[in-house]
Amino acid sequence: HLVLRNIQKSFGNKTVIDDLDLEVAEGDMVCLIGASGSGKSTLLRCINLLEPIDDGYIELDGLDISDPELDPQPVRQRIGLVFQSFNLFPHMTAEENVMLAPRRIKRLSREQLRPDISALFQRFGLSEHMQHYPDQLSGGQQQRVAIIRALAMQPEIMLFDEITSALDPELVGEVLDVLRQLKAQGMTMVMATHEMGFAREVADKVCFLSGGRILEQGPPEQLFGNPQQARTQAFLSAVL
Ligand code: ATP
Ligand code: MG
Repeated sequence: HLVLRNIQKSFGNKTVIDDLDLEVAEGDMVCLIGASGSGKSTLLRCINLLEPIDDGYIELDGLDISDPELDPQPVRQRIGLVFQSFNLFPHMTAEENVMLAPRRIKRLSREQLRPDISALFQRFGLSEHMQHYPDQLSGGQQQRVAIIRALAMQPEIMLFDEITSALDPELVGEVLDVLRQLKAQGMTMVMATHEMGFAREVADKVCFLSGGRILEQGPPEQLFGNPQQARTQAFLSAVL
């Protein structure tokens, strides 16, 4: 359970997140939509403690993770983040990429990790690609490996930032299928996306960001079917 209260974040004198409140219940998929520059990526980076917030607090299962006294490292392990660019290490196989963080941070050996990691590759239909290098994989496969890499740390929440934007259209579906599967398995997820069809189908809650605020939020039927704010209506009619 993730709770954000009165989040404030500026870069210089530019306010990027403005008094934002958000709640993400266990097992929910929350989609963040909004124009370029509305603050979606910054919000995800704040949740993951990659960006310090200026005011407000972020609570994860009752723990105030925005407390500046807190060591961010163990908190980050509980929150997986996957970006648009997969950033797999090119000189390592898919399996080595996935094992890297648990080996270094959890100090587990390859032998200890192999059963769980093989199971992850299997679960997402990539068993035959474990020993392949990134340049031997399609963009969709690389992005699925990047998701498996985040899952290998056994996070409680997964954050996704436009993870299908860099993919050829025919590869988007296989990556979205991974998210559908995670959703079915009860993973808690927050996702910035331009995939409105997917948000409409899978999200429990959709938040429309504008100028660093959540201007409107609700279940997808409501937000897409009956948006209340003029700016939400204008955005949706431009993108749908
Ligand atoms: P997009 O849909 O294009 O990904 P976004 O909703 O993710 O947009 P952000 O990347 O969060 O938007 O950016 C919000 C605002 O904050 C933008 O005006 C951006 O220029 C600014 N911004 C983001 N990161 C920084 C930074 N490190 N320094 C200065 N300004 C920044
Ligand atoms: Mg962004």
